[in-house]
Amino acid sequence: AAATTPRRLSPAGAGSPSQRDARWGDTSSYGARKKHRVFCQLPNGDWALCTVITTSGDDSVLKLPEGKVLRLKTESLEAANPEILDGVDDLMQLSYLSEPSVLYNLQYRYSQDLIYTKAGPVLVAVNPFKKVPLYGNEYIDAYRNKTKDSPHVYAIADSALREMKRDEVNQSIIISGESGAGKTETAKIAMQYLASLGGGGGIEYEILQTNPILEAFGNAKTLRNDNSSRFIDFLTFTDNLPLWFTVWPVLLEKSRVVQCAVGERSYHIFYQLCAGATASLRDKLNLKKADEYKYLKQSCCYSIAGVDDAQMFRTVTEAMNIVHISKEDQDNVFTMVSAVLWLGDVSFAVIDNENHVEIVVDEAAETVARLLGCSIEDLNLALSKRHMKVNNENIVQKLTLSQAIDTRDALAKSLYASLFEWLVEQINKSLSVGKRRTGRSISILDIYGFESFDRNSFEQFCINYANERLQQHFNRHLFKLEQEEYVEDGIDWAKVEFEDNQNCLNLFEKKPLGLLSLLDEESTFPNATDLTFANKLKQHLNNNSCFRGERGKAFAVRHYAGEVAYDTSGFLEKNRDLLHMDSIQLLAKCKSSLPQMFASKMLSQSDNPLPVPYRSSAADSQKLSVAMKFKGQLFQLMQRLESTTPHFIRCIKPNNLQLPAIYEQGLVLQQLKCCGVLEVVRISRSGYPTRMTHQKFARRYGFLLLEDVASQDPLSVSVAILHQFNILPEMYQVGYTKLFFRTGQLLLFSQLTLIHP
Ligand code: ADP
Ligand code: MG
Repeated sequence: AAATTPRRLSPAGAGSPSQRDARWGDTSSYGARKKHRVFCQLPNGDWALCTVITTSGDDSVLKLPEGKVLRLKTESLEAANPEILDGVDDLMQLSYLSEPSVLYNLQYRYSQDLIYTKAGPVLVAVNPFKKVPLYGNEYIDAYRNKTKDSPHVYAIADSALREMKRDEVNQSIIISGESGAGKTETAKIAMQYLASLGGGGGIEYEILQTNPILEAFGNAKTLRNDNSSRFIDFLTFTDNLPLWFTVWPVLLEKSRVVQCAVGERSYHIFYQLCAGATASLRDKLNLKKADEYKYLKQSCCYSIAGVDDAQMFRTVTEAMNIVHISKEDQDNVFTMVSAVLWLGDVSFAVIDNENHVEIVVDEAAETVARLLGCSIEDLNLALSKRHMKVNNENIVQKLTLSQAIDTRDALAKSLYASLFEWLVEQINKSLSVGKRRTGRSISILDIYGFESFDRNSFEQFCINYANERLQQHFNRHLFKLEQEEYVEDGIDWAKVEFEDNQNCLNLFEKKPLGLLSLLDEESTFPNATDLTFANKLKQHLNNNSCFRGERGKAFAVRHYAGEVAYDTSGFLEKNRDLLHMDSIQLLAKCKSSLPQMFASKMLSQSDNPLPVPYRSSAADSQKLSVAMKFKGQLFQLMQRLESTTPHFIRCIKPNNLQLPAIYEQGLVLQQLKCCGVLEVVRISRSGYPTRMTHQKFARRYGFLLLEDVASQDPLSVSVAILHQFNILPEMYQVGYTKLFFRTGQLLLFSQLTLIHP
């Protein structure tokens, strides 16, 4: 930790000027000298570390690692750091902070399974895609006892814990990165650390067992990640003994239940149940094989390499036992899972020449009715007719084939979403029995990562919007607030520019002409189509620099992490997400316990709760759109985060193949760039990360002074202390209200107070 901890007190000992220049100075200037290490760019764009053999004129002759010799323009070379800095554990320690240096340093560490590196205040985690020997109780203890201090998720969790106790402020650990970068794994590692504080009694184990359950019901295989979370996970540990723990999952992607892209899967639990149910459960639920259900068949993907769904099913039921979900409740849960699958197989027969339909009474319809506990007639009624109130008169409208299919799918989606919510409630209840929720807390946020596929739909639109919000939180804390504080306190400061994403957020959120408002407006027009929606966007947003209209139904958004083209097909339908009152009433009438509970919850949440039965479907139009609900919950989440001290972890995916030991520089660089890691290091290095008010500083360290200063004001006392200890002028700044220190300077004073008790 050469550059982060001060080693000497006197100016004379502060290192030679050249060392200091290298550390703080301009990093771009470079003159190629013999034997020096430099980076040169290869034809494929990668940077290679090589040695200068000779330089003549504008050219340099270089030796590549594998021995090849190359002649290149000297000005195209980038300076490399001296060998002694290879693999430093904080990028702040690099003398040259160029892109190739950072890439090389991360790669150097990665090749030795050192997947964690600090970038100033941010922890960078490069996904190893294999087991690395960095976890477990021994490591947890080592970080707790401070016998280890290399960068690690445990170290982040530990400092969150210490700061919570010291400052009495809630903390958050915010994990971000693209899909498949390792966020959920990282969250679990942080959980391990915090759960180990549980104080015995098995609560640690119970807390960790929530993972397999949440993953079974909330994760799915996507093209980017075999175990992709399709909800935002927000976990909170409260500083109580025994530990209090809650999960607050937000915004499950429910469209996946009825529709998913080729090569992806629906939620794991469907396949696990089909593969792993016992013979008696199989009988009871009339289970088929996964590849026989329409909902699962459409993506032509049933298994995941290296995953045994049957085994996973046993893991999940075991986890349910451990978190005290009763056998009976478990059976109820699986009954609903099976009912959703069978719903997809319910088919319709056209009964007149206006394309009106009735359900076909077959095995599918009978099984759904039996599992839900309703009659076939009720099921038919709910899926093929709609009750409406027109001019105070109840009328019954017959549904066409496509309307009936939409109604059926809407029922399946909401059954599943309700089931997920209910499960979470059970988990929370079981892990907080008899405990009060007081004290400070640490929350872990694991959000679904930025997604860009060949075809991007409403789901990616929402997910990427959420990531955009989170990115702003990151920017605000690491760039904006930091620099504003310097300016406000009047210290000498050259502003560091950063990529602000406010424009992109405006594109989404502006009223009335933003993406979300326009989507909602269009969703309320009965005759609107995805095409009219796309045209409307192009008409109103073409001047926005983050927006680009594309041909037909498509448009593109310039996100902080890159441009994404969205296909508006299905946007309106997914945004409306109508669950008709007839469907809710069907559930309310069911004899099984869960559907009834779901129905009463839906009614209590509805914005226009009219008494059962017979109600107009007007209640539907009062319902919030999916996009508005999403925004509301996202804002709630951001509000919770705002009241915490954030600790950021940035996960990096070194390749798209989900394979170990492959480090693609271009891919890594693009991720480092879009999340501003280099700028964070630059700010931290030139900035003053530790600060203290004059009062506090004077009160805490005034006793170290040799002269009597009791009568002096805090500012004078502070300055006297700094002078007495010959703190280098470049190591601190005196602001109007606070003292600002370079990294590590305050630590020095803490050490001094230990020496002079
Ligand atoms: P994300 O949540 O960012 O989409 P995940 O956390 O699900 O990504 O990680 C994707 C995969 O990467 C995991 O299934 C696992 O195989 C691998 N992985 C991620 N982090 C680690 C780690 N620390 N150690 C081992 N494997 C990891
Ligand atoms: Mg995840």
